[in-house]
Amino acid sequence: MEKLLQQAIDDLKNFYNFSNEEFSILEKADKAAEEMTVPEFEHYIKHEFNSDAPKIAAKYGLLGIPIKKEFGGSGAKPLITVLTKERLGQIGLGFSSFYNVQVLLCGQTLQRWGNDGQKSRYLKSIVSADKVFAFGLTEPEAGSDPASLKMQYEKKGDRFILNGTKYLISNGTIADNIIVFARSKDKSDQISAFIVDGNSAGLNRMALRDKIGLLTSDTAMLEFNGVEVSEGDMLGEPGKGLGIAYSALLNARLGVASGCVGVIEGCLNAVVARSKERVQFGKPIGRHQLIQRHIAEIRQNLEMARWPVYFAALRKAEYEQNPGNHELREEVDMRVSLAKKIASRLAFESADRGVQVFGGFGYSLLSPVGRLFCDSRVARIYEGSDEIQELKIAAAVLGDEFRAFD
Ligand SMILES: Cc1cc2nc3c(=O)[nH]c(=O)nc-3n(C[C@H](O)[C@H](O)[C@H](O)COP(=O)(O)OP(=O)(O)OC[C@H]3O[C@@H](n4cnc5c(N)ncnc54)[C@H](O)[C@@H]3O)c2cc1C
Repeated sequence: MEKLLQQAIDDLKNFYNFSNEEFSILEKADKAAEEMTVPEFEHYIKHEFNSDAPKIAAKYGLLGIPIKKEFGGSGAKPLITVLTKERLGQIGLGFSSFYNVQVLLCGQTLQRWGNDGQKSRYLKSIVSADKVFAFGLTEPEAGSDPASLKMQYEKKGDRFILNGTKYLISNGTIADNIIVFARSKDKSDQISAFIVDGNSAGLNRMALRDKIGLLTSDTAMLEFNGVEVSEGDMLGEPGKGLGIAYSALLNARLGVASGCVGVIEGCLNAVVARSKERVQFGKPIGRHQLIQRHIAEIRQNLEMARWPVYFAALRKAEYEQNPGNHELREEVDMRVSLAKKIASRLAFESADRGVQVFGGFGYSLLSPVGRLFCDSRVARIYEGSDEIQELKIAAAVLGDEFRAFD
């Protein structure tokens, strides 16, 4: 395991009793991340989805960490998912984004809201990577405000018919199934969730290739023209779609935050190696004090980002044991927003410092810090932007009557 992550686990041991099973999951996460490093780089340079990573992750059981044992998972606590995502984040946020969608937005959502038939139909294949899932909430005109989404569904006999467009959907061109949110044509205040078959007639997918980072992650625009969904593939109750989406986003936000801690660690490992190797003015650049400042700042960022993420994960574990505890849910929501906002900003700042330490080579996708720089910028936007996290944090501090958005 990379040294700093090992150090964090050692620190955590003082107040968290890791079981042998949890240690074994973390060891597998470490092996998987090592195995993914070269393919991740090769696919990044080719600007293509890393098709090797899901298979490697499945081989080591990573896609089932928060999924119950009866569905092939480990049923582990949020802290174990967080530490795993931290390890994966060190090699970039491309596969980390796949993981967020496949496991945290879709797997955990099906586990919480799916009926028995849906759980047994889909969860095992999510864990084994036999099926890829996508999560379609965002639309061209509904991003930060998903309650304004326009995609429509209509009941016809025993089918639902979907019409509309989803935008910026990760895993969009490759997904076997897509969890989609749509508004009832008859009762426009009702938003519901559906599990759509990726091979459905009337579904057109267009790859969005011009991203400035996350080059190993697949992103797409999806057009639904009269796509049919069977009655049994509505997820949760009619009209409960937004609540389902928000609970999914809570999981994924913590996933983004922990991936960002990994980015900071990845930067630190890279700059330490580079500053010992690279010689200028007759000595390794690590002996120049201004380079040492960058290293100290990145190390400080790691410390500042890591603990809010771990603390949010520990509180989330308590909430998962008491899902009816509204007060705890509000606290977890706020802690996860804080963790995401802190970690994503510090990840980008650390990657910027990493590029500076690497000099001209840093300004290239061939350097690890160059890739982390491009990848980490999105973490301040997706799964709820910085501004949305700020509004959520402020509402939690001021009280709901001061809430600046609905
Ligand atoms: C690479 C990538 C992958 C993604 N994957 C998925 C996916 O798999 N599934 C999915 O559904 N979505 C996905 N998204 C979409 C993502 O969640 C949205 O981009 C995000 O929620 C922001 O929405 P938006 O882009 O429409 O920005 P907008 O909502 O248009 O926001 C623009 C700016 O206005 C600010 N703003 C908006 N409202 C307020 C307010 N009330 N107060 C203050 N400021 C405000 C925002 O913070 C932002 O700075 C992905 C996005 C990217 C870039």
